Amino acid sequence: MKVDWLIVGAGFTGATLAERIASQLNQKVLLVDRRDHVGGNAYDYYNEHGVLCHRYGPHIFHTNAKTVWDYLSQFTEWRPYYHHVLAHVDGRAVPVPFNLNTLYTLFPPRYAAKLEELLTGEYGFNVKVPILKMRESTNGDLAGLADYIYKNVFLHYTRKQWELDPDQLDPSVTGRVPVYISRDDRYFQDRYQAMPLLGYTEMFRRMLAHPNIRILLQTDYREVLDGVKFNRMIYTGPLDSYFDYLHGHLPYRSLRFEFQTRDTEWQQAVGTVNYPNEYDFTRITEQKHLTGQKLAKTTLVVEYPQIYRPGENEAYYPIPRPENRDHYAKYESEAAKLNGSVLFAGRLADYKYYNMDQACARALKLFATEVVRG
Ligand SMILES: Cc1cc2nc3c(=O)[nH]c(=O)nc-3n(C[C@H](O)[C@H](O)[C@H](O)COP(=O)(O)OP(=O)(O)OC[C@H]3O[C@@H](n4cnc5c(N)ncnc54)[C@H](O)[C@@H]3O)c2cc1C
Repeated sequence: MKVDWLIVGAGFTGATLAERIASQLNQKVLLVDRRDHVGGNAYDYYNEHGVLCHRYGPHIFHTNAKTVWDYLSQFTEWRPYYHHVLAHVDGRAVPVPFNLNTLYTLFPPRYAAKLEELLTGEYGFNVKVPILKMRESTNGDLAGLADYIYKNVFLHYTRKQWELDPDQLDPSVTGRVPVYISRDDRYFQDRYQAMPLLGYTEMFRRMLAHPNIRILLQTDYREVLDGVKFNRMIYTGPLDSYFDYLHGHLPYRSLRFEFQTRDTEWQQAVGTVNYPNEYDFTRITEQKHLTGQKLAKTTLVVEYPQIYRPGENEAYYPIPRPENRDHYAKYESEAAKLNGSVLFAGRLADYKYYNMDQACARALKLFATEVVRG
């Protein structure tokens, strides 16, 4: 077989590039994935009860990038969806990110009103203040509030998620946890928030339904290297694997997903409930909130953070620590030696946490810069 491009990985990154190359350049693509489906981690499927489930954890689409929104809208209609998250704190389910409504759920009304006045006085309204910044406040009540949030919402969740204390992680992780001085309970504030009406897999099916694209599933790209002639290659798998772990395995965090179907129409008030302080799992998501399906039964997915064991479970989250970035840099310099004959992109090849829209934006940019210009 002869193609113009061999693309490894049929997730957001690989599928976007395959679609662009096929439809805009009229070139032939062989898209290979070792899994038995397209869509990468965004893959969804109907379980035996007819509930649309996300196999690799709940995926909620949100973006501020009009280019990404317009691009994907060619392949799917959307169902508007605002994600809401509650966290179990001190025996109550409270809105997160922590906001003004959370104050009134947790504290007596007069003290909550005092904190609200202090917060708006010091920082203004409709702003996100990182808790680390708030901890530095000279006002005792505000510093105390920041401490409370840090201990009850952030600290134990972080320990469960990463098996590390916050100070062992990149400061940007802690730096991102905000108090949102607002009454907006939505988890995201992006301009576009919606779910693909018929699911992610159907969206990917439409993206890839082009005569110039051939898909090979359950195939490691190494298996086709001898039999396929191609001009160029795009690789969206793990960078360490590409170089046969020459510098050792890059560290990741993994997850175990437990799906539970209940004989009740609804189980939770909102899409996701976080359990920062109790149990071994971090959060439970009720799939139907995300997809809008109307069914008598409901399916929940419970997430248990795991140590990543190469070959046994999946590499989900790069661990954000400076030494891991240095480790990745060694692989980057191996990649540079290839002088652009292989293009590397995606959350695994870039060793970076990307949201779906970021992965798609990265692929569109790579197409415009490296692929079109050659
Ligand atoms: C638990 C979890 C929840 C998430 N929730 C959200 C969310 O709510 N919203 C959001 O925007 N983003 C979310 N994300 C991020 C989202 O999953 C990523 O943005 C997206 O998957 C990135 O796409 P990708 O194509 O770069 O990588 P992937 O989707 O991982 O695709 C890479 C593909 O390469 C294949 N591959 C690897 N090596 C080889 C090989 N040797 N041969 C052949 N194929 C190979 C893999 O099988 C895989 O299918 C979440 C991620 C996780 C882990």
